[in-house]
Parts: sequence; structure tokens; C-alpha cells
Amino acid sequence: MPSMHPNRAKWEAIVWLLAFALIYGTAFLFDGHEAIDALFVSQEAYNLDEIFTALTIAGGLGLIYSVLRIKDMHREIQLRVTAEKHVDWIACHDPLTELPNRRLLEVALLKLLTLSQTQRSAIFSLDLDGFKKVNDLLGHEHGDQVLKVVAKRLCSMFPEDNVYRLGGDEFVVVVERKGNQDLSALGKRMVVAISKPIAINGATVEIGASIGFARIPEDSAFPAEAIQYSDCAMYAAKKIGRNIVKAFVPEMQEELIKKIQMEADLKLAMKLGKIRPYYQPLVDLKTQEIVGYEALARWEREPGKFVSPCEFIPLAENAGLIVELTDQLFRIACQDALSWPPHTVLSFNISPVQLSDRLLGLRLLKVLGEVGLPVHRLELEVTESALINDAETARDVLDGLVKSGIKIALDDFGTGYSSLSQLSNYQFNKIKIDRKFVATFEESDRQEKVVRAIIALGIGLGVKITAEGIEDASQLRRLQDLGCDIGQGYLLGKPCPIEETLAVSERQIA
Ligand code: C2E
Ligand code: CA
Ligand code: CA
Repeated sequence: MPSMHPNRAKWEAIVWLLAFALIYGTAFLFDGHEAIDALFVSQEAYNLDEIFTALTIAGGLGLIYSVLRIKDMHREIQLRVTAEKHVDWIACHDPLTELPNRRLLEVALLKLLTLSQTQRSAIFSLDLDGFKKVNDLLGHEHGDQVLKVVAKRLCSMFPEDNVYRLGGDEFVVVVERKGNQDLSALGKRMVVAISKPIAINGATVEIGASIGFARIPEDSAFPAEAIQYSDCAMYAAKKIGRNIVKAFVPEMQEELIKKIQMEADLKLAMKLGKIRPYYQPLVDLKTQEIVGYEALARWEREPGKFVSPCEFIPLAENAGLIVELTDQLFRIACQDALSWPPHTVLSFNISPVQLSDRLLGLRLLKVLGEVGLPVHRLELEVTESALINDAETARDVLDGLVKSGIKIALDDFGTGYSSLSQLSNYQFNKIKIDRKFVATFEESDRQEKVVRAIIALGIGLGVKITAEGIEDASQLRRLQDLGCDIGQGYLLGKPCPIEETLAVSERQIA
């Protein structure tokens, strides 16, 4: 039911009071009371005096009743106004951190647009580094606490209304610039504040932040555009590593447009089946026999022009296309593998992100079953970084794969995270020495020692060792002398389409 506006009620009360004063004044002026009295006496038979008294009492009580109802109404309106304010607050704020959300940011950007002639400002886009790991390893409750701490730290540096949470681990800070403020230094101060250790339930968590910023009006006079630019700068910072602060430069946007175009091209290429595996032989260094092929994805974007998998595989990972791409490539590779001699193994690369997919094993087994390739002919190559990202799930996924009879090779060994504890934690069938060791081990004593140690480790663990990137005969001979089991490299065979592998499958090396 619509209730009366308090102001209208007030005015109506005043009008009624005035009417009362007017009628009463007139009655007073013309001796109305005496006239009524005389009327009552002359018409005693009708009991007019009793009726009048009843009406007077009813009028008085009615007045009290109205005052009480007006008070109730007032209270109800207050409650409604408070509730409306609360709903408005919820719609414009993030309930977890209590920071304003994207809606309020849009309002603030509109306000900035009108001020951009006179006021200089900057927009900072922040994305936390390592937040996903906290969420995965410690659970969402801990993740929430981390977000609250980050929000508090930012609010201690800037007025609360200028810090926004856009969802997930993304924040935006809008800063009014005074004088010749060093914005990179300001960004770095944010990184320092955010990356201080956070204590949660007895555990200490350390996260970082990638920050990009854009200036209004120098980079753009339009705040909505400036925020896209600061996002661009943030992505550029994230690409470099942790805790990086980047100012927007126009080339970044070109890169972003290129990336979006490339993503669309990748989708189309996948749809048209233009990404296909090539195969590089894996050669037994003792018998010189081809024991398997590594499938390496190839995308011929234009005739004769290939995009490197180092470029499109991460793109597929970020665009959420990697599962579909892997499925496509894997099915083709399994079918191709059927045409090789029956002892030949298919070595297939698995992206780090896929080791957090608990259905990976089932999906691979399904394809193997459908194509008819025996499980013992498959070997998956996983990199060390895959085991770091989400260690617990990766371990479960790998255990599942091993249990179903799939062999696992540890790829790019020696780059980055090698740790012996990892080797003993997982059941690997093979270790692949990264090609950077093979490229330099002849000239460098240190590298040769590393290669020797890895080969010795392989013998100790009962695991075969593959050396990647063998390009010349002296490297090959040296690795054979050191007792390396398997070799791969341009000298032994470049990655080639399936038809060529058939032609060389019985090849012997000199
Ligand atoms: P990777 O698994 O370490 O593959 C070996 C890379 O070394 C391949 O590069 C191969 O062409 C190259 N290579 C082989 N022999 C030599 C040599 O003698 N000298 C030199 N300089 N290079 C050699 P490619 O094909 O460009 O692949 C790069 C990376 O992309 C691969 O590194 C792998 O991590 C990834 N990748 C390729 N195909 C796939 C795929 O289907 N799925 C996934 N997840 N990753 C893939
Ligand atoms: Ca590989
Ligand atoms: Ca490798």
C-alpha cells in the first residue's frame, strides 16, 4: 500500500489546524457557543447536547489516534529507507572485502570523465600472483581471508572509496595525481604492501601482485578506455613474472589486439583441423633403433609459415582451449601410431594445467580404447612445473595414470624446479635431460657433470634417460659414452609429418 509522504502529512495537518482555527475563531467572534447552547436547550427533546459531547470525545480520541498512526508511519518509512540503502550498498559493494565493486567503479569513471579537463588521475589494475595456489592448497576460506587482508592493506594506502574489487583476485585503484607523482614508485609500494607475509590460522602465506597503470588524460582522456589500458599493462606485467609494475604504452594494446586475433584464429584452426602432430624419433643409443616418436603440435597458419607451439600452446591454455586441442591431437596421434612397428612408443606432451584435471586419465583411456592403441604404447611427457602448480592434485592424477598402465616421462629435466624429493614422490619411467645441457655440455665442465649426474641418477632409480636436442655427431658419441639410453634431436631426425615417419621408421644411425 503506498504510504503518505511525511511532508504531505505535515502540510495536511497544518491545513486542518488552520481550518480549525478559522472555524473556532468565527464561532468565537459570533458567540457560536451561546447559539449552540440555546439550540441544545430549545431542542432538548432530541438530546443534541449528548450527541455533541459524544462527537467532541470522538474527535479528541480520533486526533490522538491520528498522531499515533502518523508516528508509526514515520517509523515504517525510516525502516524502508534504511533497507533501501542496504540493498543499494549490497548492489555496489563486494560483500567479502566491503570494497566498492565494478558498478561503483563505473560511476566513478563517469565522474572522472567530467573532471578529466581539470584533474589528472591514474588507474591501477592489480592482479594477485599466487592466489590460485593459496585457494587450491589451503582452501577457499583461506583464500577469502587473503583477499580481505589485501583489501585492508590497499585501504590503508588510499581512501577506501578509491579501492575497488572487480571479482576474483582483481582490484582497481583510482588515484588523483598531484604534482609530479612517480606512479611506478607508487605501484611498487602497493606490491611491497601486498607481498608482506599474511598469517592465517598459524600458517604464513605469501602472495604477490602484478600491477599495470594508465594515466588520465595523457594515455586517454576517457576513463573507460584508460581502464582497458591499465588492464593491458597489468597483463604485460603478469607475463614477465611476479611483483612487476608496468606503465601502459600503446604497443601493449597492439599486442592485446594481436592476441585476441590469434585466439580467434586458433579456434578456427582447431575447428578446421589445421593443427596436427608432427613426429620426432626417439632413438635407442645402444641399438640405434627408433623406439618411439614424440608428437609435437604444428600449426601451419599460412602455407609454409608455422606458429611455434611455444606460442599457441600457452594461448590455448589461457583461452581454455587446451583440453579440446589435446583431445584432437591425441586422437590423431594414436591413430598415426597404429601405423608404426608395434614396439614403437607414442610420446605425448601434456600441459601443466591438465594435471589438475582429474578426468584426464579417463579421457585418454577412452581415446586409446576407441582407436585401439594398447596402453603400454603410450608415454606422457610432463614438465617439472606441472608438479609444482597444484602438487596434490597432480600427484593424484599421475598416480591414476600410472595405475592404468600409462608411462610417464619427466620432461625438460634441469630447468627450474628440479628436486630430488619430487623424483622419489612420483613414479617416472623416464627422465628427459633438457636440451640446454646437451647444447653446452661439451664445452662446459659443469654441464657435463650435471649430465653425468642425471645419467647416474637414472641408473640408480632404474629409470631410462633421454637426451634432447642432439644436433651433432660428437654430442651423440659423448652421450653414448656416458651411457645415456635414448637420444632425440635434429641429428637423429627432425619433427616431420606422419608420412615421413613411415619412410624412416627402420632407419639406422651411423
Ligand atoms: P618439448 O616437449 O621440450 O619439445 C622439444 C622441442 O625441442 C620441440 O620444439 C622440438 O622441435 C625441439 N627440438 C628437437 N630436437 C631439437 C634439436 O636438435 N635442436 C633444437 N634446437 N630443438 C630441437 P617445438 O616442437 O617447437 O615444441 C616446443 C614445446 O612446445 C615443446 O617442448 C612442448 O613443451 C610444447 N609442445 C609441443 N607440442 C605440444 C603438444 O601437443 N601439447 C603440449 N601440451 N605441449 C606441446
Ligand atoms: Ca616434450
Ligand atoms: Ca623437452
